[in-house]
Amino acid sequence: MVDLKRQYQKIKPEIDAAIQEVIDSTAFIGGKDIKEFSNELQEYLGVKHVIPCANGTDALQIGLMALGLQPGDEVITPSFTYMATVEVVALLKLTPVFVDVDADTFTLNIDSVRQAITAKTKAIIPVHLYGQAADMEPLMALAKEYSLPLIEDNAQAIGGSYTFSDGRTVKTGTMGVMGTTSFFPSKNLGCYGDGGAMFTNDDALAEKLRMIANHGQKVRYYHEMVGCNSRLDSIQAAVLRVKLKHLDEYCDARRAVADYYDNAFKGNPNIITPFRAAYSKHVFHQYTLQVKNVSRDEVQKLLSERNVPSMLYYPVPCHKQEMLKEYNVAGTPLPTTNMLQDCVISLPIHTEMTEEELNYIATNFLEVIAQLAN
Ligand SMILES: *Cc1c(COP(=O)(O)O)cnc(C)c1O
Repeated sequence: MVDLKRQYQKIKPEIDAAIQEVIDSTAFIGGKDIKEFSNELQEYLGVKHVIPCANGTDALQIGLMALGLQPGDEVITPSFTYMATVEVVALLKLTPVFVDVDADTFTLNIDSVRQAITAKTKAIIPVHLYGQAADMEPLMALAKEYSLPLIEDNAQAIGGSYTFSDGRTVKTGTMGVMGTTSFFPSKNLGCYGDGGAMFTNDDALAEKLRMIANHGQKVRYYHEMVGCNSRLDSIQAAVLRVKLKHLDEYCDARRAVADYYDNAFKGNPNIITPFRAAYSKHVFHQYTLQVKNVSRDEVQKLLSERNVPSMLYYPVPCHKQEMLKEYNVAGTPLPTTNMLQDCVISLPIHTEMTEEELNYIATNFLEVIAQLAN
């Protein structure tokens, strides 16, 4: 699905030097690369504060902790997302309230969000899934109407942007009260281990996020609140500084792969290619199709026989997971989520794909669809 080795080969001298420099300095925790990377990412995103942490799941958890939510408070999230988005809500004894997504963008459906709001609702987590931004403008208006904070889960969309109706364009992850991301190796901006970050324009919130990620202390050994230990280490920051310089070109490379597939599958009645909302710049963390009139599981089986990798993101939506069964409130209608569960399939996409590979995958995919549609 991804080829990190080929990407590394292209930037090997820069990466090796950056890692070696950290080793030589022995500043493995909190060295200069952490500060420099935070500054560079702030600049790139156009956001006031970047607070690095250990991974994207921690980023969401620390965000919810910083908002001061109380057990039983409701947090609206899509069910059609990676489990991390919802797991942290349950972990903090908050109540996840699942809402449906739109079939084209795979992101929060605004009417579903509106219907889910109650007196107990305390936050909304839009997820910019697969690299496609959620439609933030109406969501921000709704959130404002009810004074609800938005935490953007930007783990799959770093580098993407959103354009408001007045023409203003901003990076995803910088519109809500805060945004979060993951630097898991296969993410669009991935390090060589685990990593994550939180973004915000709010000074007071930034200070709180920083404290919570650091055992609730501002001054060492004086702990003001219950926090945790969530750090990005210096070697990862050094790798990320190198890769951040390439992020735009990586996003372009991903879009070029998506263009290739889109073109190859154009007009096929059994394939719905990913929608690119006019309000945003898609960064294709995944290239996720919907197949129609054929069994998606059969498609995947035949593809694997032809050595074409594919993945299901995700085979079971959160509201059907054993882990969250107590929150699977009867009567929560998630028709689009349930429909997508059975028809989405993702094809390989990364920054170093060759025309030959793309041709092989597209040709075989079309043959498999044709075979099953007959
Ligand atoms: C990857 C991911 C996360 C979690 O990131 P980790 O760094 O693996 O903890 C959260 N949300 C979404 C949507 C993700 O894709």
